[in-house]
Amino acid sequence: MDKQHKDQILKLLLSESITPEEVMLAYDIYHHEIPIHASVAAFVYYSKKGRYHIFVNTFLSPEARREVFLHELYHAVEDMPKVGYILGLDLYRTPIEKNADAFAIKLCRSSREAIE
Ligand SMILES: [Zn+2]
Repeated sequence: MDKQHKDQILKLLLSESITPEEVMLAYDIYHHEIPIHASVAAFVYYSKKGRYHIFVNTFLSPEARREVFLHELYHAVEDMPKVGYILGLDLYRTPIEKNADAFAIKLCRSSREAIE
């Protein structure tokens, strides 16, 4: 996927023209919640079959799980396609990876506003 296409997907997500679920379906992205070490919030795994698996730590609060899931979704889109395995092993609340965090926070905020 070229950069323009990636940017477009991220923009559509932020404008809520498409849902994260639609992006997941279109790009073979799977979401899993598993109990892992408390220092790790989430990670993305790119399988040999070309599927992205997002693993989110069940120990996080529902809100934090949603936020880190969106953060990992950003990685999956941004780093697509890539040969390899683990794209991001994210430690909870590290100050790095600002783009992915900013994206997740923006999207969480807008979905919360939609509920209220
Ligand atoms: Zn990250």
